Amino acid sequence: MERKVEMGRKVLIVEDNPENLELLRELLLFKGYEPLEAGTGVEAVEKALNEKPDVILMDIQLPELDGIMALKKLKENPQTRGIPVIALTAHAMKGEVESFMAEGFDGYIAKPISIKDLLRVLSIYIPEEKGP
Ligand code: MN
Repeated sequence: MERKVEMGRKVLIVEDNPENLELLRELLLFKGYEPLEAGTGVEAVEKALNEKPDVILMDIQLPELDGIMALKKLKENPQTRGIPVIALTAHAMKGEVESFMAEGFDGYIAKPISIKDLLRVLSIYIPEEKGP
């Protein structure tokens, strides 16, 4: 069956590491998602407003505006508040995960990112099979 990009499968990747960005982009394309990209927190907020992605995958350490500050801007704005934002975090220690969630992230994926974790989290927000 041919995979094609459908409405409602836009995923904004916010990541300043080119290798991580490329890995995520390829995985998302392979699975039929529509990846969008931002390399800084400022760019993330702009793209979220302009493109209205279905999910945002947000690195924490980013130039200009870090992932936590970008999250706050997204959640302050009624136009972007409803978009689920998933933290991509190397800090997968339990206490740190809890503090990220307390900042208002909707979920997290620990780095290094496994395909399984990525797809599991995305499936929560973007059902794999959309009915007719
Ligand atoms: Mn980073």
